[in-house]
Amino acid sequence: MTEIYQKLLNLVNKNRISNNIYVRHAYSRNVDILLQGIPDIVIRPTSVEEISEILKVANEENVAIIPRGGGDCEFGGSKPINNGGIVLDLKAMDRIINLDQDNLLVTVEAGISWAKLNEYLCHFGLYTGCMGPGSGMTASIGGGISHHSVGGGGCAKYGACTNQLVSLEVVLPTGDIIETGSSSNKFTKNPFNRFGNGPDLMGLFCGDNGIYGIKTKITLKVFPKPEYATYKTFQLPRKEREVSANIMMQVRQKGIDVYDLMYIMDLLVRVTTQEKFMPLWEHLKKKRGVIFYTIEANSEQQLEQEVKKLDNIMKNNNCEDLGPEISDGNIAKWHYTEQGHWQFYHNLWGIFPTMQPLSAECFAPINKYPMILDDIDQWDQEHNADIQKIFEITKTRPIVGSGPVVLIDGNNVEITCGFTSFWKYFDGKLHDIIEETNYKLWSSILERVTKHGVQWYMMGDYMSRLMVDIGAYSNEYYQLMKSIKKVVDPNMILSRGKFNFWGDNRSE
Ligand SMILES: Cc1cc2nc3c(=O)[nH]c(=O)nc-3n(C[C@H](O)[C@H](O)[C@H](O)COP(=O)(O)OP(=O)(O)OC[C@H]3O[C@@H](n4cnc5c(N)ncnc54)[C@H](O)[C@@H]3O)c2cc1C
Repeated sequence: MTEIYQKLLNLVNKNRISNNIYVRHAYSRNVDILLQGIPDIVIRPTSVEEISEILKVANEENVAIIPRGGGDCEFGGSKPINNGGIVLDLKAMDRIINLDQDNLLVTVEAGISWAKLNEYLCHFGLYTGCMGPGSGMTASIGGGISHHSVGGGGCAKYGACTNQLVSLEVVLPTGDIIETGSSSNKFTKNPFNRFGNGPDLMGLFCGDNGIYGIKTKITLKVFPKPEYATYKTFQLPRKEREVSANIMMQVRQKGIDVYDLMYIMDLLVRVTTQEKFMPLWEHLKKKRGVIFYTIEANSEQQLEQEVKKLDNIMKNNNCEDLGPEISDGNIAKWHYTEQGHWQFYHNLWGIFPTMQPLSAECFAPINKYPMILDDIDQWDQEHNADIQKIFEITKTRPIVGSGPVVLIDGNNVEITCGFTSFWKYFDGKLHDIIEETNYKLWSSILERVTKHGVQWYMMGDYMSRLMVDIGAYSNEYYQLMKSIKKVVDPNMILSRGKFNFWGDNRSE
């Protein structure tokens, strides 16, 4: 490794590379408490040329490279799968390259966060539409495109962030640099459109979880932020899962262009109020689930019409309006005017300081989610004996359930579910039983949810291998993904191990 370190040292400023044990440990994890892989080297390039050279060295030396943006992946995607390799941290590449106000396009370096980009755009009355994931305060645009992220707001209207994608500059694992979309024509001066000049090769890099190339430059559509908006929050009646799904379907069937529509279930209302994370709801007589909407318009009149239609749907479904002000419990207003889209999720993920989520985030059709959430309750009961093993040590039961369900453009929702558990180091001792049980339970719940036919968008190392292990891909589909990998990355340098292309022992 010392030799490789020396070679890399010739490529970047010495302050942008480290093999220090503390730095390596800082880059050895993502959000979960289970998956750790300590890299040998961490490097923070500042240009596409540096990245290309780094990849060439990695090929010469047969060392794995793991791209990392904000490091917010929930399935260990942006750290090594086993120990070793080089983490390529893209956060120093966070410049805004060009805002084309005529054509409403922005070009950025891939390491910029959603918050930083939108803070810049708001000075021009613009936004990215889909505001990226709930982790958008730190998560990068490159990570979002690698995951098809949604959740930070605007996804009912604009869909996943890859919907807004116009062009990518990508460093292939071999070190070659390509431009996609309209820029695949080398006579094109500025990117302007995604489709054309042959097949949509850009699609290969969308949701690829960092296996086919390193995104370095990204062009997105941007949108004028409508001047008017209304935010409302309602308490749901009994059978809240079915009622909330009915509301989402009716909103779609009536063609209402809602900006966001989110169902927060009773468990979450109870827990967030109890932990004073959402004191807004303290006065609620019944700690039932809530649903909120946000709608935007270009005129007061248009806004009034749309609000009327939405309120009718809520009324017909026996929902109770919590009131216009934040102090009334109007979480929608709090979420979009005070908390700035993302803060909600950052708080939610850290709600119990000693516990961490082992989560599952997937897409499902609107009409299927009540059944999936019911089955997660059923799973909880079936696994009580295992959950009890953790309780016996920690005296706190891991919390199993679902996070918010968010409407995505078309007929989709984003479901967050899973369980919140403890790390194996508890009360001054290591408890391997906690680790074993966490693994067992996490795999089991992910497999159960997969078998409902959901679609995973963020897969990281864990979910990508689990899909292969449980045989969720057809053989033909999997072989095609693997063949493409072999073409673009003959030495399997990039994100080695994801999707088990080499099998667990990398012997193939
Ligand atoms: C509090 C919290 C809330 C969250 N909410 C949501 C949510 O609402 N919706 C959602 O979709 N996700 C959510 N996530 C998960 C995650 O944060 C997002 O998916 C996010 O888009 C990841 O971006 P990142 O920059 O952190 O990526 P990283 O974790 O750094 O990387 C993600 C993947 O992309 C690869 N990658 C990163 N950058 C590049 C690049 N430039 N080129 C090639 N590959 C790259 C990595 O190797 C990895 O496989 C949440 C996470 C947290 C902690």
